[in-house]
Amino acid sequence: MGRKFFVGGNWKCNGTTEQVKKIVSTLNGGEVPSQDVVEVVISPPFVFLPLVKEALRPDFHVAAQNCWVKKGGAFTGEVSAEMLVNLSIPWVIIGHSERRLMLKESNEFVGDKVAYALSQGLKVIACIGETLEQREAGSTVEVVAAQTKAIAGSRPCVSVVSFVTCLDVRFVGYFMYRTLTVTGLKDCICFFYKSKVSNWADVVLAYEPVWAIGTGKVATPAQAQEVHSELRKWLQANVSPEVAASTRIIYGGSVTAANCKELAAQPDVDGFLVGGASLKPEFIDIIKSAE
Ligand code: PGA
Repeated sequence: MGRKFFVGGNWKCNGTTEQVKKIVSTLNGGEVPSQDVVEVVISPPFVFLPLVKEALRPDFHVAAQNCWVKKGGAFTGEVSAEMLVNLSIPWVIIGHSERRLMLKESNEFVGDKVAYALSQGLKVIACIGETLEQREAGSTVEVVAAQTKAIAGSRPCVSVVSFVTCLDVRFVGYFMYRTLTVTGLKDCICFFYKSKVSNWADVVLAYEPVWAIGTGKVATPAQAQEVHSELRKWLQANVSPEVAASTRIIYGGSVTAANCKELAAQPDVDGFLVGGASLKPEFIDIIKSAE
């Protein structure tokens, strides 16, 4: 199944009303491939979302940079998924490393946020990525697999709650799973998996090595391809071959007009999440790398 190229612009905590208008006007004037070839999603800070949504060309869409982990209420400073839906904001970025590291968002918390946002009908750009220490320790694949697992929620457990009212036999299920795995019958029980993701078509996985974000140290095309391919294998083994084949895995971390073409040429790189360069006219050239 073909995966449509995806380019996200993450403006982070940047911009004034004047700057926002200027960037939007540059985006609106840019000549880019059609929506059939590339999906473009712009993510301004919350306060500028209505302005950007209103002024942006109709073939580009908008994303929030975060949302609360459950239904809104007494959570000062937070913005709920319901509010984004109410404002017709289709996308949200969840699990960005700046939030994971500075605001101590754990894998589990990020997984719960993704699940809740999806349950409310939002589409999610779910971010994962290793730190420099983790890469140097040789644990990159392990780290991104654990982060993806917390998002996918495909734990080796069997819950029959929906079959036997109020009886959660996860523990028993684990041993059943082990037995069935050994006997090669795992696939027969896949519908019992506790999956957190209701619809994988609404998820884009953004691999963003922390050491490459905002540093100018972009991953080499080979480094990006290696991790993307491992992630696809993980999805194949732990979710399904269909999801592995159709889920877009995009790269983020110091992507620029100068390095995007080579990265985009990698077979498992399905697009980009762009920070710094998404505030500049070169973002148009990055969108063009879809061709
Ligand atoms: P960068 O940021 O392009 O400025 O490195 C990417 C991101 O944080 O999404």
